[in-house]
Amino acid sequence: MKRITIAKGDGIGPEIMDAVLTVLAAADVNLSYDEIEIGEKAYLGGHSSGISPDSWDKIRKNKVLLKAPITTPQGGGYKSLNVTMRKALNLFANIRPCRSFHPYVETKHPKLDIVVIRENEEDLYAGIEHQQTPEVVQCLKLISRPGCEKIIRYAFEYAKTYNRKKVTCFTKDNIMKQTDGLFHKVFDEIAPEYPEIETQHMIIDIGTARLADTPEDFDVIVVPNLYGDIISDVVAQITGSVGLAGSANIGTGVAMFEAIHGSAPDIAGQGIANPSGLLQSAIVMLNHIGENTAAARIQNAWLKTLEEGLHTADIFSEGQSQQKLSTKAFTEAVIANLDQNPKVLQPVQPLVNSQIVLPSYQRRPQPRKDLLGVDVFVDWAGNNPEDLATRLRSIENDHLSLSMITNRGIKVWPNGFDETFCTDHWRCRFQTTAERPVSKAEILALLTRADEKGIDTIKTENLYAFDGRAAFSLGQGQ
Ligand code: NAD
Repeated sequence: MKRITIAKGDGIGPEIMDAVLTVLAAADVNLSYDEIEIGEKAYLGGHSSGISPDSWDKIRKNKVLLKAPITTPQGGGYKSLNVTMRKALNLFANIRPCRSFHPYVETKHPKLDIVVIRENEEDLYAGIEHQQTPEVVQCLKLISRPGCEKIIRYAFEYAKTYNRKKVTCFTKDNIMKQTDGLFHKVFDEIAPEYPEIETQHMIIDIGTARLADTPEDFDVIVVPNLYGDIISDVVAQITGSVGLAGSANIGTGVAMFEAIHGSAPDIAGQGIANPSGLLQSAIVMLNHIGENTAAARIQNAWLKTLEEGLHTADIFSEGQSQQKLSTKAFTEAVIANLDQNPKVLQPVQPLVNSQIVLPSYQRRPQPRKDLLGVDVFVDWAGNNPEDLATRLRSIENDHLSLSMITNRGIKVWPNGFDETFCTDHWRCRFQTTAERPVSKAEILALLTRADEKGIDTIKTENLYAFDGRAAFSLGQGQ
């Protein structure tokens, strides 16, 4: 018997978790449970992360967590437990299957059937932010090769395992050539290993527009973290109800499964919440642990219940629905339909093998790395870039000379436009003029001279070439 960890959470959490556990028991699923307390009580009980240390132990021991939504108390600077869990447990992939249930749940997109696979740990969510000048703040966008390889390979393996035909990758690599460029490059590297799967790359803006317009053209979508956060909500919403989707957060060891909605405090305790989102995540969980027959059996019972018009209040509509059911009555209706298939909605077949195993990351041979210069970021409240350039040229040496100044990425020196608005945050690029790369000592000497001249340097970024290929962006207009 497989032992998993469950957390009933806050608000409607306990009601919908009880409903899901009742369905799992009725379906004779071979599971036993360790229960942990997370969320409001843990936060207010002094655990600022929303979870106690012994609960971590249970999650890590059992490796699978089925989690009901929690309430994050407002104010008080409490950290999001979800973000903490993703990072602490290396839950690198967020999987959100979304499907329309036309005509039983109203939607403008009756044929929608999409799985969004979102990178879960990197990108702007690394949370590295700084204020650098009185006028400018920054957030670092970090994308790594191991992070890209893991999520993109997972997306292809998922498509193969779940009999999906196409994987689409969204990035904005026409603008972010290094970060999104790496994600796209790795997608192009891995795609040929799966010749049976159709592949496609789209720029995220037009891709999202097409997704909202003709979602039936998409199948599996793999995306970096921030885009995934946004488009997974778009996709869930256009199925007709965000309340019906579940999600999985998959790591190399641990996996966590939850509904996508929150704790709905407005209806907590009334016995009217829809348990479907959590039930869907439990079905994804059953496939994850290899209980494929039970997963398909419960899914078909649930689809049949929807088809019969037996609906909870949130999806009830006059004309389409037959009865408005409480959480408990809906749960009983699903149980009564175990071993029945839907007639109109497509029934699901048990997966033959749902185990997705990724190869461990192989670091490539170290490339040659040459230092070609440095971007020095300067806090300066002046307006005329020529004045700043004059001061900066006084700190040049034989090997490092000023090649460009940008403001918010736009080249303002040499040959800038009077029309360009400038803040107090200037990127000043010094590049080697000699045949040989620069040394760190030369850069430190440059910074010392800047300090002596009263130039307020706020940070630097080294300019590298890897195997002779310059690996930094040009200024806009350069
Ligand atoms: P919410 O998803 O809880 O509720 C939005 C609306 O949808 C409410 O009207 C609610 O009644 C309804 N709703 C949600 N789930 C439902 C269900 N299963 N059945 C019927 N109706 C349902 O979003 P919110 O009100 O913005 O957030 C409430 C709390 O949930 C906040 O504390 C938030 O931080 C937390 N939250 C937690 C998670 C999580 O634990 N993963 C996710 C999102 C929000």
